[in-house]
Amino acid sequence: MENTIKKGGISVQTEHIFPVIKKWLYSEKDIFLREIVSNASDAITKLKRLASLGQYDSHDEPYRIDVVLDKEAKTLTVSDNGIGMTEEELDRYICQIALSGALEFVEKYEGENTSNGIIGHFGLGFYSSFMVSDSVELITKSYTGAPSVHWTCNADGVYETAQGTKDTHGTSVIMHISDEEAEYLQKSKIEEVLEKYCAFMPVEIFFTCEEEEASDDESKKEEKAAPQPINDTTPLWQKNPSDCTPEEYKEFYRKVFHDFREPLFWIHVNADYPLNFRGILYFPKINHEYESIEGQVKLYYNQVFVADNIKEVIPEYLLMLKGVLDCPELPLNVSRSYLQNNTYVSKVSAHIVKKVADKLCSLCNTAREEYEKVWNDIRLFVEYACMRDRKFYDRVKDCMLLELTDGTHTTVSEYLGKAKEKHENTVYYTSDKAAQAQYVSMFEAEGMQVSVFEKQMDVQFLSMIESYQSDVKYIRIDADVAGALKSDEASAEDQALAKLFTEVSGNEKLKVEFTALKDASIPVLLTVSEESRRMEEMMKLYAMNGMGAMGAFPTDATLTVNTASPLIEKLGAMEEDKQRLAANYLYELARLSQRKLSADELQKFLKDSYAVLGMI
Ligand code: ADP
Repeated sequence: MENTIKKGGISVQTEHIFPVIKKWLYSEKDIFLREIVSNASDAITKLKRLASLGQYDSHDEPYRIDVVLDKEAKTLTVSDNGIGMTEEELDRYICQIALSGALEFVEKYEGENTSNGIIGHFGLGFYSSFMVSDSVELITKSYTGAPSVHWTCNADGVYETAQGTKDTHGTSVIMHISDEEAEYLQKSKIEEVLEKYCAFMPVEIFFTCEEEEASDDESKKEEKAAPQPINDTTPLWQKNPSDCTPEEYKEFYRKVFHDFREPLFWIHVNADYPLNFRGILYFPKINHEYESIEGQVKLYYNQVFVADNIKEVIPEYLLMLKGVLDCPELPLNVSRSYLQNNTYVSKVSAHIVKKVADKLCSLCNTAREEYEKVWNDIRLFVEYACMRDRKFYDRVKDCMLLELTDGTHTTVSEYLGKAKEKHENTVYYTSDKAAQAQYVSMFEAEGMQVSVFEKQMDVQFLSMIESYQSDVKYIRIDADVAGALKSDEASAEDQALAKLFTEVSGNEKLKVEFTALKDASIPVLLTVSEESRRMEEMMKLYAMNGMGAMGAFPTDATLTVNTASPLIEKLGAMEEDKQRLAANYLYELARLSQRKLSADELQKFLKDSYAVLGMI
């Protein structure tokens, strides 16, 4: 080459490509550094491979990547001691292949709306450096000993190649940061980008900021400890699960997710050929119903961070978990629709779902106590996942637990087995332990278990599992007292009382039934059928309560009169006026324990209370 300078213009199309690259994916500019550092890492991996094949003698030199920020010179340099390039290779790989790759990439996606596009997460390679640079220099020397080459290209795509001065193998990419992108001359910005994208790259990366080095006085320099790489080259997910300790899993979780609450448990996925991906998924501790939405699953490609929460690779409901996934087979430079229709991606997704379900089942079957302890934390996730994915439900249905009013847990089949003699294929539940306390105590007195479904989402969840498994009904305890217990034949006196209750309730369709409850302290209980209550709840949920859901009591209500109650006995013997007053008051009390009163109802209730007190 003898000091001759070769000039080139990167063809007609470059006039088109450079401006496009410059404004490419405005919000994703940071990825340029990932692209350049991962090229450096690839160059070292290639050389390592040659060394392992005996085609190169490494003399045990440590492989490393240096990222150097020089504020004064306004440059950011990424250097590696990898395979390097000969002049001919540089011409082929950088001026032809990389460029045409970038061109193709830009042409393909130029029209896509990149603000929500997935492609922004994947790089357009070496030329992404032009997103932040006025010009880029590349100084390289091939491991073969061929002369060093110095290539410079400005932002219009005009380049020149000259002899380089590098005497060791490897490549330096010097990016002359443009004034508009001056934030990339901030030390903290570079640290942040490296931390985000390069924290687990497989080659040690060292970062230095020239300005600071220069201002340090000599004595201080001596005291300084040896520089530490900014990355962990062997992240936990790459290890064999049997070699990892619980402490290591927890430590990794703290470091990656900055969550100082301990994860509940985790799944280390290690799928070999043909899927070939690895990852660790953690079940985070969730404090309340809505917080869980903030899960985070980080996607990596050969230890290079790609993006968070890519729904196409992991089912959306698993994004409530926290974790890392490394998919080296993932096709890069892809669009969302490509990923959606990719069979590899859907197999990865299905595999993860299976692993998560298997983990839940194995905990339930082999570590029941531990499983019960975490159930309340994972329940929301499991329910949500079941609602989103029938297949997931089918896998975990036998290890879904019911929480009982006494705080213990049981599976549905255990519950039904125990209830067999009293009621078949019905799970009774409370949606509010405190408000429905009277019903709960009545059920407990009858020796029946009550499950707890108090979350807002439970209404939809229960309808969904009933539709999946139609032979099991879920009935709220205040919906079917009469069905849960055997009602008695009404005597003539009872019939007179029934008529009275119907009259005072103002609801001519009110059904009145008579039964002897074990708990004699409850005189009457009001119930509304499960269907009409759910309908009402659904209407409220969809903000349709303008349709009179509140206040107007659904007509298919049943009043269960407890013939074992001394109060009822007394009621039967009362003279007519008092009897009417007392029956009305009992009805109001039953309604009060069933639901909140409207303003008018409350007023009437207070008035009636005074009238009753007046009788004493
Ligand atoms: P990709 O990395 O996807 O192949 P790039 O545009 O990033 O595309 O790079 C194009 C090619 O340039 C690489 O495949 C590689 O052959 C070469 N190259 C880039 N950076 C380096 C480097 N630091 N050392 C050696 N070769 C490199």
